[in-house]
Amino acid sequence: QEKINQTRNQNRISVVGRHAPPPIESFSQLSTVHNVAQDLIQNLKTCGYEQPTPIQMQAIPIMLQNRQLLACAPTGSGKTAAFLLPIIHHLGGPQKKGFRAVVVCPTRELAKQTYRECVRLSEGRDFRIHIISKINQALTKYGPNSSQKYDILITTPNRLVFLLNQEPPAISLSNVEWLIVDEADKLFEDGVRGFRDQLDQISLACTNSNLRRAMFSATNTPAVTKWCRHNLKGLINVTVGQRNA
Ligand code: ADP
Ligand code: ADP
Ligand code: MG
Repeated sequence: QEKINQTRNQNRISVVGRHAPPPIESFSQLSTVHNVAQDLIQNLKTCGYEQPTPIQMQAIPIMLQNRQLLACAPTGSGKTAAFLLPIIHHLGGPQKKGFRAVVVCPTRELAKQTYRECVRLSEGRDFRIHIISKINQALTKYGPNSSQKYDILITTPNRLVFLLNQEPPAISLSNVEWLIVDEADKLFEDGVRGFRDQLDQISLACTNSNLRRAMFSATNTPAVTKWCRHNLKGLINVTVGQRNA
């Protein structure tokens, strides 16, 4: 325990929540401690990632243990890989069950960047990773008569809610196991009307009893923290750097 506290202090990681797993100190511990396959560790190396960043050290083991998470760490500190790596590990390989992971991003540009990182980190796994681009195509593509050949969806909230609101819904989220909200602080800003309603709609559509959710953000904002405390069972809150909430 003392060693764990020391590692957290050195990396300015603070953790609130019960039974949080210890941080990893190197990517090789993903294999030795968490049974992550070598190809994923190789993909990290191919991306040029030699050492985990502080948020990756702590958030990755938490998500590998299937815990729900609110993670706050500065911009540019590697939050994308912190949630993508555990998702890719959990999904394993492609299945024809429809989307099993959904990543909600505030802008299309961020969705595209996240898509590119997901492709790199899952190299060799043959996942079907989708971005909702043309809404008209999407209406037929993901519907009940499709072949369900997709695994990971990366989207802005608007587009996903638009598909969910079709009669009948033009997309099914009934097999989603992981719902990630990236840049949650941006999505919860006062000016962004209705995001909480959209998030509730998206959450309601994820009917799998096995659903887990994780929120990532650059700042520790009270609105996000409050929403997470109310909605995420067994929540672990990880903050890297300054605590300002
Ligand atoms: P954030 O979402 O926290 O703003 P990103 O996930 O966009 O940060 O990552 C910022 C940059 O750092 C990206 O260029 C990414 O490729 C790089 N990066 C992520 N993790 C590592 C790592 N472990 N080592 C080196 N670079 C990394
Ligand atoms: P985003 O906010 O995801 O970038 P857009 O700005 O393209 O999405 O569109 C905002 C919303 O307008 C969509 O999520 C959808 O609800 C609606 N919309 C977009 N394209 C169409 C369309 N072809 N037909 C009807 N509604 C649309
Ligand atoms: Mg980010």
